[in-house]
Amino acid sequence: MDKISVIVPCYNEEEMIPIFYKEISKVIKKMKEVEFELLFVNDGSTDDSFKEMKQLSLDDKKVKYLSFSRNFGKEAAMLAGLEYASGDYIAIMDVDLQDPPKMLETMYKELKSDSNLDCVALKTNSHDDYGFIRKFFTNLFYKIISKMSKTEMVPGARDFRLMSRQMVNAIVSMGEYNRYSKGLFSFVGFNTKWLTYKIPERKAGKTTWNFFKLFVYAIDGILAFTTTPLIISALIGIIFCFISVVAIIFIVVRTLIFGDRVAGWPSIVCIMFFLSGIQLFCTGISGAYLSKTYTEVKKRPIYIIKEKSNDLSNSSF
Ligand code: UDP
Ligand code: MG
Repeated sequence: MDKISVIVPCYNEEEMIPIFYKEISKVIKKMKEVEFELLFVNDGSTDDSFKEMKQLSLDDKKVKYLSFSRNFGKEAAMLAGLEYASGDYIAIMDVDLQDPPKMLETMYKELKSDSNLDCVALKTNSHDDYGFIRKFFTNLFYKIISKMSKTEMVPGARDFRLMSRQMVNAIVSMGEYNRYSKGLFSFVGFNTKWLTYKIPERKAGKTTWNFFKLFVYAIDGILAFTTTPLIISALIGIIFCFISVVAIIFIVVRTLIFGDRVAGWPSIVCIMFFLSGIQLFCTGISGAYLSKTYTEVKKRPIYIIKEKSNDLSNSSF
């Protein structure tokens, strides 16, 4: 009998946890041919999320929990779940029912029907709920990263996916601190089948992602999966060197022929501003990579567990 581990990262989701549990229980009842493990990861919630999970785990021995010492972010919660999950197949699912549990059955069937497949993942093709600005930046991000990075990023990809044990082991073996899952999932390779669906509205609670956080997350993705910006900044440097050499020759020749007329300081100031802007921008790019290297080198733990359910097998990593 196959075992599926469902990892559910939760951050301040006291309202959603019981609703989610009810929904997933229906699916578990239906899929009699599989054993289930529900692994809730409490990512330092400040509400009663942890109490809810603990209560569920007392009533239902399929339910297990991990609780962090503080909020480490969804990426860390997903990693902890992947490290502790014991199933043959592992799914990651949001607690807000935007990743509908009933899709799990279809995903499992798809995965089973083709022995070549290692993963069935979901993506959305409609961003109707996004405003104009968010849509614009989302498209821009995927355009930039697909041009710059060798790792393929699928537009509209969710974190909702069902993976084989082998693929999960590969993901967990990537011990980097700055984790950008969408990239990691793709980097490890294996065969993924994409199913398309429309994301339903969040059932309760509210999203913790605002525009600024998403923007920073997008930059993280670019920094983690391509170093092309460094090359671009070096190229800009070379181009401007070339332009300045031509300009110097032009000025020297002109002075020799027509004499020196002191004029045109506004244009010089404009050029200075422009060039120092570009210099700062390029230094910023190098700085961004340096800071990522710094956090990587420190080798701090990606998450710290304060409490976990007793029956949870030790992380094998
Ligand atoms: N989440 C988390 N840690 C965080 C933020 C979010 O574990 O710091 C969880 C959250 O509880 C939910 C999932 O990640 O289960 C997705 O979060 P959210 O619905 O806020 O994101 P969105 O669907 O808007 O992308
Ligand atoms: Mg959500």
